[in-house]
Amino acid sequence: MTGVYSLLPEGRHSLLAPLGGGEDIDGYLAAGGYAPLAAPDRLLDRIAATGLRGRGGAGFPAAVKLRAVRDAPPGPRVVVANGEEGEPGSVKGRWLLRHRPHVVLDGLRLAAAMTGAERGFVYLSDDRAEQAVRQALTESAPEVRIDVVRTQHTYVAGEESAVVRAVDGGPALPTAKPPRPFESGVGGAPTLVANVETLARVAVMYSRPDEADSVAGAHLVTLSGAGPAGAALAEVPAGTHLKVLADLCGHGTATAVVLGGMFGGLYGEGWTDLPLDHDRLKEAGGALGCGALHFLRPEDCPVGVAAEATAYLAAQSARQCGVCVSGTGALAATLAAAARGEAGHDSVDKLRRWSQQLPGRGACGLLDAAARIVGSLLAHFPDRVDAHRRSGCPACEGAAPENGRRFTVPVP
Ligand code: SF4
Repeated sequence: MTGVYSLLPEGRHSLLAPLGGGEDIDGYLAAGGYAPLAAPDRLLDRIAATGLRGRGGAGFPAAVKLRAVRDAPPGPRVVVANGEEGEPGSVKGRWLLRHRPHVVLDGLRLAAAMTGAERGFVYLSDDRAEQAVRQALTESAPEVRIDVVRTQHTYVAGEESAVVRAVDGGPALPTAKPPRPFESGVGGAPTLVANVETLARVAVMYSRPDEADSVAGAHLVTLSGAGPAGAALAEVPAGTHLKVLADLCGHGTATAVVLGGMFGGLYGEGWTDLPLDHDRLKEAGGALGCGALHFLRPEDCPVGVAAEATAYLAAQSARQCGVCVSGTGALAATLAAAARGEAGHDSVDKLRRWSQQLPGRGACGLLDAAARIVGSLLAHFPDRVDAHRRSGCPACEGAAPENGRRFTVPVP
């Protein structure tokens, strides 16, 4: 069961409202939605001033991406609302598309106006999200032509170069960069690929300019953990401590957290002091990524959890880059052996070396995620890893399925 919560101050607009209900077009218009945009550059400047960062995972400044497409050489431009969230522990994109399609479409048409795009796409893999978006398109008349593109639900399908490839009719697999989509994207045109949460925040910033700073700072987070405690989708102010988030979903006794879906690694002692903040999490060696947090109970074994995450990532490799196929395979196999208490004497040295050498060598972030999981496990739980090598671990026996079930959260 996944709960839906807003921790924003009273009176602030929440992307999670209306809770549990559909988005009513009349109410959306009455609240200032789809208002004409007379001065696109002024809105872009406002976005830049707030420091809004993209919510797909990399946390890149939204205004920089918008300006890169706007300032490209003359010619057609394209904008894409990316609603495909490959992280199994994230549900925010599907929730937004299912329940608030208008705020996403509004953000998309504003992005088109700011970049000069005449063509837009909504990219998704979820049936209910597709129905909601198609219905919303019949209720509104955005100035830009918007089409829906279906994709598969895989870990890499939402990576921005995979998005471009799929919208162009190819497989949803990443490509080598450069060029980046803002240089050459859909049909070769400069393309903005923006996460649906980013676009929703743009729409709210435009209709509620007095709230722009708090809208830009707030985050949608998906919270989960194994066992009887719950999962949650929450909207929270910037800087909210992770302990508050763990308490919210009943995981207040957690001993560790997997950050950023699987992208931000594993964090042990001291996790309760971490705030939800891109820069602070980066300083701490982690990453906020897509805003998904998975908490570990005292009885969960961090070695087993890391082994499951690495096995899942190895299974999700698009098998395009040799270094990813061999790298994720070696990380997963060695860690699985370690979890079973069967790793050789040099296994820890190998894992440490690979976790340092592999990041940045694949065409997408999957290999980086696997390496970060392993590196952070060795940094935060060296004693647990060592104990497995000596005597194995009852909690890990029979573990390490590749389906990522532990991390999968149902969409509320
Ligand atoms: S790094 Fe791995 S998942 Fe990413 S494109 Fe290369 S093979 Fe595919």
